Amino acid sequence: MTSATGNDTGSAGSSSGFGSPCGACKFLRRKCAADCIFAPYFCSEQGAARFAAIHKVFGASNVSKLLLRIPAHQRFEAMLTLAYEAQARVRDPVYGCVSHIFTLQQQGREYIVESWNLKDN
Ligand SMILES: [Zn+2]
Repeated sequence: MTSATGNDTGSAGSSSGFGSPCGACKFLRRKCAADCIFAPYFCSEQGAARFAAIHKVFGASNVSKLLLRIPAHQRFEAMLTLAYEAQARVRDPVYGCVSHIFTLQQQGREYIVESWNLKDN
């Protein structure tokens, strides 16, 4: 059930910056346009640091192209996962967030074995 209103990105959300660029444009040292695709997700203050990892791993151009292909109501979720993956990839260039998944899977198996042991006693 998608009750999406038929309009495009919804420019109401990006009305915060009077002259101050969003965090992404600040990091890229470019002028932040009124319809900047990054503005709703990267505030002017802390956004630049968050955007740095995303740009390093995926590239700003690739991320903007990707966002344009995603429905507007899902873009915030997409940015969250991209930011998470980028930070994981910066920490661990080989496995990225997969190392975290492996750790959680191993913990899950340990908890299952532990629960079996508790049942036996
Ligand atoms: Zn911007």
